[in-house]
Amino acid sequence: MAYQDILDGIYNEVIQIENTGKVADYIPELAKVDANKFGIALVDKHQNVFTKGDALEKFSIQSISKVITTSLIFSKIGNDLWERVGYEPSGNSFNSLVQLENENGIPRNPFINAGALVIADLMLDHFENPKKFLLDFVRDLTENPNINYNENVAQSEKAFGYRNAALVNFIKSFGNIKNEPEAVLDFYYHQCSIEMTCVDLAKCFQVFSNNGVIPKSDKKFLSTSKCKRMNALMQMCGFYDQAGEFTFKVGLPGKSGVGGGVVAVFPNHYTVAVWSPKLNKKGNSFYGLETLERLTTETSLSIF
Ligand code: GLU
Repeated sequence: MAYQDILDGIYNEVIQIENTGKVADYIPELAKVDANKFGIALVDKHQNVFTKGDALEKFSIQSISKVITTSLIFSKIGNDLWERVGYEPSGNSFNSLVQLENENGIPRNPFINAGALVIADLMLDHFENPKKFLLDFVRDLTENPNINYNENVAQSEKAFGYRNAALVNFIKSFGNIKNEPEAVLDFYYHQCSIEMTCVDLAKCFQVFSNNGVIPKSDKKFLSTSKCKRMNALMQMCGFYDQAGEFTFKVGLPGKSGVGGGVVAVFPNHYTVAVWSPKLNKKGNSFYGLETLERLTTETSLSIF
């Protein structure tokens, strides 16, 4: 497949479309980013890397980090995970509180904020130094020892994180958070502040397109069954309340973040990451979705 030609063509098409999205500004530090950045990176199953545009610039991966922490906990505790968090699409926005009351503090899935906070709580319980462990793990997956937290972004989110604070306290009132809310939030804000380039991100998700094996070390991190379930979760829950539309138009498992990043996985074929900070009304990168819809349509490569 002539991936470079395909990326070049799609980039040139998408950049002509008027971008009606808006940069997320509820985390003030995120609003400082150049709104016109646009990068794409695709890594094929032989680890060949194809790039276009601003694919080597770092951005805040935000919610995309939820896939990584969930996979770490799933690999560690297996199906016990599903006693603390569900695996159904939520149909609500990422930071919604409304379902939690009726569902007794068990979040619908690990990719809405409520679920990610429960996963953060589990990270604190299962890893001695969870921040260091997470960073070492993503450095391994990306093959980039320079991946780091962005302390300014973490602190900026903390300063305005009233809704996440409400979520964690509410869930704790049901007994589904074991650690102190402050500690859970601190971990959560740091995981969201991790910075990667499109190339890092596409490499990071290779493990999910490679049956749970980390390509570089050949280490089996997730069983084939667990890897299947991680991809199923991304398919159903990766795009907030636009997961249905993403499946409908793109047809790949994936995850977005409010930093404007989107990553998608075509099992046994490729991973692709797009970054463009302007978000549509559902909080997903406007150009990111345009790009991926074209990619699967023009290549006829999607899981459906
Ligand atoms: N840190 C962000 C928040 O909790 C993540 C949201 C996202 O990327 O969807 O609001």
